[in-house]
Parts: sequence; C-alpha cells; structure tokens
Amino acid sequence: MKRKRKMGKGLDEKRVEQIIEILESEYPNAKTALHFTNPVELLVATVLSAQCTDERVNKVTQDLFRKYRSVEDYARVDLGELEEDIRPTGFFRNKAKAIKSFCNDLVEKFNGKIPGNLEDLVSLSGIGRKTANLVLGEVFGIPGIVVDTHVLRLSRLIGLTKNTDATKVEFDLMEVVPRDQWIRFSNLLILHGRAICIARRPKHGECKIVDLCDEGIRWKKEVGSNS
Ligand code: SF4
Repeated sequence: MKRKRKMGKGLDEKRVEQIIEILESEYPNAKTALHFTNPVELLVATVLSAQCTDERVNKVTQDLFRKYRSVEDYARVDLGELEEDIRPTGFFRNKAKAIKSFCNDLVEKFNGKIPGNLEDLVSLSGIGRKTANLVLGEVFGIPGIVVDTHVLRLSRLIGLTKNTDATKVEFDLMEVVPRDQWIRFSNLLILHGRAICIARRPKHGECKIVDLCDEGIRWKKEVGSNS
C-alpha cells in the first residue's frame, strides 16, 4: 500500500523518538525472547507462544527442534505425535493442527521454503500479519510492526492510536514510527508491556515514559489533584 508522506515531523513522531530513546536505555537488548535458528523454527515457536510464556516455549523447542529439522518433518508427522511433543505449551491440539496446516501449505505452495514477503506469508493457513511481520523482521530484516496484545494496549494508552483493530493500529504506527525502527519499536513496547505497563495494573509510578504517555499524564494530574 502506498502511503502519503507528511512534510516535517508531527508531535507524535517527536514523541515516538523520545519514547524509543528512553525505552532503548531501559531495554538495551530488545529482541524476541523466542529461541530459533531458521524461519520455520520461528514460525513454530510463535504458534506455541500463544497463551504460554516464552521460557516454557524455549524449553519445549529445545527437544522439538532437534527432532523436527524441516517443514516436511512437521507436514509428515502423525498429528497425535506432534500433539504429545508440544503438550506442555497448552492448547496443544489446536497448536499441532495449526503447525501441520501451515507446513502442509508450505510444502504444497512454496516447495517447503518460507516466503520472504507479507502477501505470501499471510496466505499460509493460520498465519496472520503479526506472525508474518515478526518473521519478516527477525529473519529477513524487512521492517514491519508486530502488533501483539502489548503493542496494541500500549499504543492506545500512550495515545498513538484510537483503533482497536490490530491491522488499523499497525497502519497508525507506521505513520509515526520511523521505518528503520519498526521492528525495534514493537520489541520495546512488548518488553515495557511485560515489565511495567502490565494489563489492568500498569505501574505508572515506575514508568520512565509517563510524561510522554496520555494515560500517564492523566494519572499524574489525578494524583496531583488528590494530594
Ligand atoms: S505511563 Fe502508565 S499507561 Fe503509560 S506506558 Fe507507562 S505504565 Fe503504561
């Protein structure tokens, strides 16, 4: 999609620059915590990470990635066997089905290779823009904004979007985050969402970007007027 370029920097662009600078010093090693050595491993780990901690996923994939070396290995395996191999990550039946289905697609449509573009990635069964952007960014170095639950929540709280639909939020963020920071910005918000801006109990008082966040500014006013 072609997007109109705005002249000069707006308030949100400047705010985003400051947020990135502050969060970078808070989380200097911001990148996905999932362990992987190739694109199919990242796809599998991402599916397993739904409703499961990255630590647990990494524990399970240690053995899993030794056993399954290629897309074809997942496509060929008996569903029940794969379910058992990933059971500790929870929702293992749905996850095994999802893994087998996108691996079957990869074998049938792409000769077992992971495509390096968004359109083809989202054509795979069960792969949405979030996972596709993650793979493009982490594996192919192609910028994309990963809108997971943390990125969506924080972007709304900070005031960078009013939307609730992940794709619309992604496009809103693309307008204000510099393209070369798209991957980094998502990773920083994810880490901040886990450490400080926790769902339903954000620690505004410990937040280093409180003065750059609409919700934080509201909170400070409230605290000030009550003291
Ligand atoms: S100020 Fe509060 S709402 Fe805003 S990012 Fe920080 S913790 Fe989240």
